[in-house]
Parts: sequence; C-alpha cells; structure tokens
Amino acid sequence: MQISDKAVVTIDYTLTNDAGEVIDSSSGSEPLAYLHGTGSIIPGLENQLAGKSAGDNLKVRVEPAEGYGEYHESMIQTIDRAMFEGVDELAVGMEFHAQAQDGSMQVVRIAAIDGDNVTIDGNHPLAGVPLNFDVTVVEVREASDEELSHGHVHGPDGHHH
Ligand SMILES: [Zn+2]
Repeated sequence: MQISDKAVVTIDYTLTNDAGEVIDSSSGSEPLAYLHGTGSIIPGLENQLAGKSAGDNLKVRVEPAEGYGEYHESMIQTIDRAMFEGVDELAVGMEFHAQAQDGSMQVVRIAAIDGDNVTIDGNHPLAGVPLNFDVTVVEVREASDEELSHGHVHGPDGHHH
C-alpha cells in the first residue's frame, strides 16, 4: 500500500545537518509511527513520503521554510534578570514557556547571560537549519477508526492513553 492521507506510516530515519552531524535518529530506538496527512511530522518530509511504500528508501532535503521555520532575529530579545522572578539559577540553554504577543505559548531558550542582561531566543533550535533526512519506510497500513478519531497512532497493543 502506498502512503496517502490517513495511512499509519512507520519509518526509520536519520536526520543530519549540512555538516553531516546527526541531529536525530530512530536508530537504536523504536521506528517512528505517525498518521499521514495530519501534520504530525514536518511538512517537507511528509510531502515527500506521499506515494511511497514499505521498503522504499529516500533521501530528503528539507529547507527551513518546510521544516522548523526560518530563523528570526526579531525573536531574540535581551531582558532584565528580574523578569525571571522565582527562578534561582539561570543558565544558558534553559527553556521557559512564555506568552507571545499574539497570546500563543512559545518556548524560549536562554541564549546568553551578561550580568543582569539575559538574552532569550524564541526560535526553534532547528530554525534556519536545512535538514537532511535518510528515511526507510518500514510499514504502511490503514489507520483504525479509533486512530482516525483520535488523530494519532496507537501502539500494536491498542490504546495506551
Ligand atoms: Zn488515542
């Protein structure tokens, strides 16, 4: 069966950046199962998987716009340490949930600390990074009615939540 909307797709994948460094991989853990056509994986990869079948291997390059988005300088701000009321120790790399100006929640990461000046970065860690996927399709099957109504994949033993 070919991959199309509402198929449950299982893939093995390795994700590298342009320097060849492995960013993420299913190797050594379970393959990734997802419900195709629901936007549960990044669009640039989902689009390329359409029409593929079990056993197919593909190498997909995903530009940031189809991946984790462009890097926006405007999402970097320097704020006063006092804004982190109630946090004892601040360190580069710490992540916080913050409310964006449009009311949505976003994750911001501390990018730098200089005295009382704390630089926060609201970009996704992979924003602006071209992604190179090496993907093997392990299995393609029909989704169950229950999976379709939930909008996600259930494990081999059925419901886990
Ligand atoms: Zn469910």
